[in-house]
Amino acid sequence: MSDALSALERAELPPPARRVFCNRTLNFRGIEAIGFDMDYTLVHYHVHVWEQRAYEHLKRRLVARGFPIEHLEFDPDIAALGLILDVPRGNLVKANRFGYVKRAAHGTRIMSFEDQRAAYERTVVDLADARWVFLNTLFSLSEACMFAQLVDLLDDGKLHVQRLSSPGVDPADPAGEGVMSYLQLYEVVRRSLDATHMEGELKAEIIAAPEQYVQLDEELPLALKDLRAAGKKLVIITNSEWHYTQAMMSYAFDRYMPDGQTWRDLFDLVIVAARKPAFFTERMPAFEVLDEAGRLFPVQGKLQLGKAYLGGNARLVESSLGIPGESLLFVGDHIFADVNVSKSVNRWRTCLVLRDLEGELEALESFKPVQRELSARMHDKELLEHRYSQMRIALQRLEHGYGPVPQGVTIGSLRARMRELRAELVALDERIGPLARKSGELVSPRWGLLLRTGNDKSHLARQIERHADVYTSRVSNFLYSTPFVYLRSPRGSLPHDSGPEGGVED
Ligand code: IMP
Ligand code: MG
Repeated sequence: MSDALSALERAELPPPARRVFCNRTLNFRGIEAIGFDMDYTLVHYHVHVWEQRAYEHLKRRLVARGFPIEHLEFDPDIAALGLILDVPRGNLVKANRFGYVKRAAHGTRIMSFEDQRAAYERTVVDLADARWVFLNTLFSLSEACMFAQLVDLLDDGKLHVQRLSSPGVDPADPAGEGVMSYLQLYEVVRRSLDATHMEGELKAEIIAAPEQYVQLDEELPLALKDLRAAGKKLVIITNSEWHYTQAMMSYAFDRYMPDGQTWRDLFDLVIVAARKPAFFTERMPAFEVLDEAGRLFPVQGKLQLGKAYLGGNARLVESSLGIPGESLLFVGDHIFADVNVSKSVNRWRTCLVLRDLEGELEALESFKPVQRELSARMHDKELLEHRYSQMRIALQRLEHGYGPVPQGVTIGSLRARMRELRAELVALDERIGPLARKSGELVSPRWGLLLRTGNDKSHLARQIERHADVYTSRVSNFLYSTPFVYLRSPRGSLPHDSGPEGGVED
């Protein structure tokens, strides 16, 4: 056998950061078409640079409305993907998979444990309630940061209605103080950021200097070619406008294409200004994009391969390709618009792209020795607590004169040993405390790992588990898994699966 062939035979699974992880078993050979979102999926940005720019535009709009915020600056550490705004309270929270709040900030200030408990003891986050705004995408970071900073200013008495001219503000505020509510404040921020994304100025700056914003991935074109040559139809479905899509795709892909080819040669269909999530739930009409300038022509009937369109809807894609929803995979970064809705409404298979997974895996890897120590001490603690409880029940039986108690055990000897055990537990907690704190500060000292809260899954992790059949850090990871992969969900995900062989630990 040739050396090259034997190298293929010895191929190992890709490193964790390049894997495609599976919640629900997915046979890639059964997938006939793959839809891709563009922003933060096919095209990744330097998040802080993009969001910093969006924040500046947002600030300019708010200053024009009378907000005294010239001094504010974007702080990328204030918020993170998957956190949740509690709008009427002006808070940002991290919840666990059940919706219990595990960490919270009021404005930009992290709340004390006592304040947090008082605020959220009886609260379960329910994303169906408009009170909560889930940070679904990296585009949400500037909005959350600005909201938090404005909450601080409002609390400090530095935002007054008289100085503002926002349609979200009611000058006839019954309180007569002229002070905005957190909800009004959020609405102004939301509308202004919306306008920032829609107006041409921000996008024009990015188009003019894409090298400052776009993070290239040279493996991506080959990954897409592999999928296409394996017979899959590739479709772009982006909410971005035509000229922005054209500029970003061209910058990110054309440099890697053979002479005479462009990014368009990688895709069977391009759909821009798709208005996801409505794209999946409504029957909006499609328009053909006739030329580079973006001239439009209404579409009658089906979409034709090789062409670019504006608008349209998921059913039209299915019927034009002649492929049923369960054979379509949609790949995107927006947890609600790309993954949740396409799956629940159209039964498309779904893949979430989560670039932060790479940092998360790296942090977990370097934390392994400390984690081993932490797990060992937690195991010691569980055992000591169990022994303490055994003594306590023996003491109770002796004191109340019922039930079996080991021979020779006296109330006095039990009390003495229990005192010792309590001291051992206190000493153990002193060792565990700093380790647990370190574990809670991985990736972000404020919010910790995105996918975990303590030992449990975060709300973000739960959303991914529910709505994404598979997830991965970047689209080029398909290069390593190949178009022929059979992705199987792992066996062990229940508490009683935690032992080394997927059984209860000894
Ligand atoms: P996609 O991820 O390829 O579907 O495209 C996302 C598009 O939505 C980009 O053009 C963003 O600028 C835009 N976008 C992101 N957030 C907002 C918003 O809050 N309002 C309007 N457009 C947004
Ligand atoms: Mg996107």
